[in-house]
Amino acid sequence: MGDETAKDALTRRGFLGVSSATLAAASVLGAEKLAAQETAGPKTISDKSRSDPGPTNSVLDAQNPSANHPLPTDAGGVQTFKYPFSFAHKRLQEGGWSREVTQRELAVSKSLAGVDMRLTAGGVRELHWHTASEWAIMLYGDARITCIDLQGKSFVTDVTKDELWFFPPGIPHSIQGLGPDGCEFLLVFDDGNFSEYETVLLTDWMAHTPPDVVAKNFGVSQSALANFPKKEYFIFQADLPASLEEDKRVAAGTLGMSPIDFAFRTMKYPATMSNKSGEVRIIDSKSFPVTTTSAAMVTLKPGGLRELHWHPNADEWQFFYAGQGRMTVFTTGGRARTQDFQSGDVGYIQKTLPHYIENTGTTDLKFLEMFKSPIYEDLALSEWLAHTPPELVMAHLHLDKATLDALPRNKPLIMPD
Ligand code: MN
Ligand code: MN
Repeated sequence: MGDETAKDALTRRGFLGVSSATLAAASVLGAEKLAAQETAGPKTISDKSRSDPGPTNSVLDAQNPSANHPLPTDAGGVQTFKYPFSFAHKRLQEGGWSREVTQRELAVSKSLAGVDMRLTAGGVRELHWHTASEWAIMLYGDARITCIDLQGKSFVTDVTKDELWFFPPGIPHSIQGLGPDGCEFLLVFDDGNFSEYETVLLTDWMAHTPPDVVAKNFGVSQSALANFPKKEYFIFQADLPASLEEDKRVAAGTLGMSPIDFAFRTMKYPATMSNKSGEVRIIDSKSFPVTTTSAAMVTLKPGGLRELHWHPNADEWQFFYAGQGRMTVFTTGGRARTQDFQSGDVGYIQKTLPHYIENTGTTDLKFLEMFKSPIYEDLALSEWLAHTPPELVMAHLHLDKATLDALPRNKPLIMPD
């Protein structure tokens, strides 16, 4: 929001001074065209018109300045692309809790859904699987994860802060919080309609299978199964597990351990790029072969800008986990909307729509960009303009050659670089 030039101010006054004939014409324009005309307006609107004397939620208004005082470049009805985990129902049980943001909460988020989960030390997310794939990042503490691969070979490991795991659809797995204080992690599923309430749970399955069938299936007596739970556990409190080496050894048995690494040690690799305004770590199937979900972990220092860009291959699901920022999503027909994000918020951008993210706070802004695609892809405005014949670009934007020559040519991802 730079200073208005005299020419800009005159243009806006000119807009306010439109003739009644123009206003009449505007009234028959479609909503999108009207929205486009709004872009010339808001800065010139008087304080009296901006006033808000009725009831309001001042705390939420303060967290959402871009809604309360829309930028003059915002226009039209762009579907909301923000939902805070703070609004989500918390399913609380002995051993921990979970809360989810799916398409039911955030209607635009069709391709991915997220779950935020807390497990105490010893708390177990019980043995289960689901139809969607599960990408995860540890946000706090430590956990032991287990699964088996398609050959029935076991995988058991411990994960700590910033480390990832990935379980393909139908692969059975578990998560257990370790000492001293368990863990909290984010799960991302490659289906906007996913729900943690709709997973195949070991206890639920056994509670709904005739006991004589289970006994015959295992070749044991029915009386030996008398203590089976009668309903699902989902999350429950258990004792801390044995040492990792012991758990690996007994789970592997004579079959041996899986050759597949379902975990990714994020911080053992250098950042994909870093400069004075932040860093980006891109993790996709090129570095983490088992995953079909790609990710960028972004840190923006105060004032840093994730440059104007878009993704040609997939929608983007975001999770903000430190600091505060704002994002504008531009869409067709002269429509654009800016929303503000705080730690714990989910954001979403439909495939190919242009956007930027800017740190508006005084501390580092950290967020994840997630894609339902094994390969991460983006295109930046700066690289587009830098690699198009300059006369053509100048004819569009009325830039002089010196300015055009000064644009970044190496796709910095984060500015100022
Ligand atoms: Mn799962
Ligand atoms: Mn993006």
